[in-house]
Amino acid sequence: MSANGDTLEHLSTWLRTESPTHAPAGVNRMMDLVAAEVADAPVAVERIAGRAGLGDVLVLRAGPQTSEPAVLVMSHLDTVHPLGTADHHLPVRLEGDRLYGPGCYDMKGGAYLALEAFKTVARSGGARRPLVYLMTPDEEIGSPTTRAMIEDLARNAAFALVTEPARDGGKVVTGRKGVGRFEVHVEGRPAHSGSRHADGRSAIREAARQILAIEAMTDYGRGVTTTVGMISGGTAANVIPQHCRFAVDLRVVNAADGERHGAEILGLKAHDPDVKLTVTGGMNRPPYEKSAGVAKLYERARSLAEELGFELGEVPLTGGGSDGNFTAALGVPTLDGLGIDGDGAHTLHEYGLVSSIEPRRKLMVRLLETL
Ligand SMILES: [Zn+2]
Repeated sequence: MSANGDTLEHLSTWLRTESPTHAPAGVNRMMDLVAAEVADAPVAVERIAGRAGLGDVLVLRAGPQTSEPAVLVMSHLDTVHPLGTADHHLPVRLEGDRLYGPGCYDMKGGAYLALEAFKTVARSGGARRPLVYLMTPDEEIGSPTTRAMIEDLARNAAFALVTEPARDGGKVVTGRKGVGRFEVHVEGRPAHSGSRHADGRSAIREAARQILAIEAMTDYGRGVTTTVGMISGGTAANVIPQHCRFAVDLRVVNAADGERHGAEILGLKAHDPDVKLTVTGGMNRPPYEKSAGVAKLYERARSLAEELGFELGEVPLTGGGSDGNFTAALGVPTLDGLGIDGDGAHTLHEYGLVSSIEPRRKLMVRLLETL
C-alpha cells in the first residue's frame, strides 16, 4: 500500500470527524471508524464505555495469544480543536504533500498509519509477541480516565510504542519532561480602595509575590521550568481584591526534581498573615527518562529504518508530555514520536506530510514483527 487515494480518503474522513476531548460523541465516532477499519482483520476489539463525560476507549488485540509480555501501541483520538474548526479555520485539504486538518499531525495521521500496520501484522501472523493497541479519548487533557488502564497494560508489556507526531523532519522521541499542574487560590480581605484602603488585604498583591517566587524556580540548566499561564482575580478597579486564582505548570527532567519542586509549590506560605493561600495539584505526568532500555529500543528502530532505506533521528528530550510518560515511568522501554511527520500541532496551520506515512507505516510493521 502506498500513500494512495485510499489512505487519503480514509484519513481525510478521520480528520472531518471532529473529536475534541470534551465532545464525546465525536470521539466515539472516531472509535467507530477505528473499529470499522479492523472489522475484516483477525483483531479482537474491546470497547470500554467512557467515563466522566469523555469518550470511549478501544483495546485492540492481535498476534499470538500467549502470556508473553506484549508490544503495546498507544494513540489518542481526541484533539484540541473545537467543533467547527474543519468547517471554518482549518478545512481538510491537500496542498502538495501537506494534508491539512484538525488533528492530522497530533495525532490522527500517526494513529492511522499505525492501525494500518497493526492490521497488516495481524493478517500476516508475523508477530512474535501479543500485540495490544490502545486508543484513548483524553490524552489532550492529561488522560484522567485512562491513566490507570495505560499503567495496567504497561505492566504486562515488554515495549510501548506511541504515535505522537514525529519531530524536526521525522525524528522519534526518546525522552519527555514530567509535567506538574497546580492551582493556587489566594484569599485576602476586600475593602473600598478609596475610603478603606488600609483595611484591605489584596489577594492580587499576594499572588504577584508568589508568582515571582514560582517563576524563579525555572532553571534551564537543570531542565526545570515553571509557568504561571493563567490568572484571574478582583471584581472592580476600586475594590481591594478578595480573590485571586492562578495555574502553575511545572516541567522537570527527572522524578527527584518533580518531587522537590512539587513539594515547594504545595508548601508555599502567604507573606501576609491575613491572607489565605490554598495550593492544590501535583505531578500529572512523571518524567519519561531515556533509560538504557529506551536507548536500546531506539537503536533497534533505527536499524530497522535503515533497512527500509531511511534515517531515523531522535529527539532525546522534549518538554511536552504524552501517555508515553506513564509507560516509561513504569520501566517499560518506550519509543514515542512514531506518528506522522508535519508541523503546527495545536494550531490552525496543522498539517501532516503525506509522504511520511508509508515509510513510517513500514517501520511500525517491522517493529510489531520483530520486537
Ligand atoms: Zn498528541
